[in-house]
Amino acid sequence: MDLTFSEKETAFRDELRGWLSENPPPPEPTEGDEDANYAWRRDWQRTLYDAGWAAPGWPAEYGGRGASLTESAIYFEEIGRARVPLPANVLGLLLGGPTLMVWGSDEQKDRFLPPILSAEEIWCQGFSEPDAGSDLAALKTRAVKDGDGWVVTGQKVWTSGAQHSKWCMLVARTDGDVAKHKGLTYFLMDMEQEGKVQVRPLRQITGESEFNELFIEGARIPDDHVVGGVGNGWKVALTTLMNERAGLGFALQVRLRHLLDDLFEAAAARGLLDDPLVADKLADLHVRTEQIRLLAWKGLTDIERYGQPGPEGSLVKWLWSDTNQRLTQAAADIVGPEALTGGTRWSYELLRARGNSIEGGTTEVLKNIVAERVLGLPRLKAAA
Ligand SMILES: Cc1cc2nc3c(=O)[nH]c(=O)nc-3n(C[C@H](O)[C@H](O)[C@H](O)COP(=O)(O)OP(=O)(O)OC[C@H]3O[C@@H](n4cnc5c(N)ncnc54)[C@H](O)[C@@H]3O)c2cc1C
Repeated sequence: MDLTFSEKETAFRDELRGWLSENPPPPEPTEGDEDANYAWRRDWQRTLYDAGWAAPGWPAEYGGRGASLTESAIYFEEIGRARVPLPANVLGLLLGGPTLMVWGSDEQKDRFLPPILSAEEIWCQGFSEPDAGSDLAALKTRAVKDGDGWVVTGQKVWTSGAQHSKWCMLVARTDGDVAKHKGLTYFLMDMEQEGKVQVRPLRQITGESEFNELFIEGARIPDDHVVGGVGNGWKVALTTLMNERAGLGFALQVRLRHLLDDLFEAAAARGLLDDPLVADKLADLHVRTEQIRLLAWKGLTDIERYGQPGPEGSLVKWLWSDTNQRLTQAAADIVGPEALTGGTRWSYELLRARGNSIEGGTTEVLKNIVAERVLGLPRLKAAA
């Protein structure tokens, strides 16, 4: 990939940069109130939406700008550079929308895409279950045919943002008599079903409740909320996961750069840049961060080639989580006790980073994907 921007790409960057500097979001609420923070991110998405900047990479017919892949990458770099928050409906914008564009019917695209963009309807991802995470195809939540729809019963867990969501990308078992990957179907489940869909927040090590348990007791889903056909859920879910690793990976590598810049500043403020051990650590982090940035850009070439993200996104996600954990640990060494005192910025980053190597696919599983599907190494068969 040629990383020199064309005139059109430079104009796109300048327009966005200008808009961001003239329209900064209001300051982040500081009281630790999660609902206030969520409302702040939702309002910010609406501001982006009103100006046509919520998802410029989406086709114009769905409210985007039909931006090229390079322009979309510029978009993430610029919103990262301006240090504005990720929009509230990040899972709808980066996972749900792109999945619908590949697998959804025209009616589904018309119905669901506009409110994702405007943050009127927030989406969550109901994949993981207590006994099905890495081995997603082992999931037990069942959907049983009933008239012109389905009745769903089961439990999901770690469902990020479910407490704010109107729609859930839900994968459920619709056929128990076929191979486990074949008996799955991908649904859009309405979360507003009193007594039938219950959301219970789980508190994380950071003190916040980003994710939830989801208890589903006889929830109804109409036939026209099946995405990609009955029994085709595994393939549709893979589209969502590939977008998660590639799309989110790109946004996160930009954030990594800024965190590292801040760590350089923190080290400089403490007169530690001349300490050879600190300098060595920072140089190592710089090289890793730059490597991830270039790999994320290279991933765009694969999307250009295959039309959608490929398994290479797993490499970026793995390296990002590893580097973010190293960075926040280095910050604890450099900043000292402040990084271990609850409620400080660096302590939050240190604690939040622990989940990075689990969320969106664990590092071990991503290594398997890279080994088998990128490098073409033989599959390891479980011992009989
Ligand atoms: C912050 C956060 C947010 C999340 N948000 C969501 C969400 O919105 N929606 C959602 O559906 N899920 C979400 N998850 C869940 C996440 O996708 C799962 O935690 C993840 O897929 C791992 O599944 P598990 O927790 O069941 O662990 P397991 O799959 O039980 O894994 C346990 C351990 O075994 C290892 N392991 C498992 N299989 C293999 C293998 N084949 N080879 C080598 N090692 C293996 C794993 O690497 C891990 O170390 C979130 C998780 C976190 C931490």
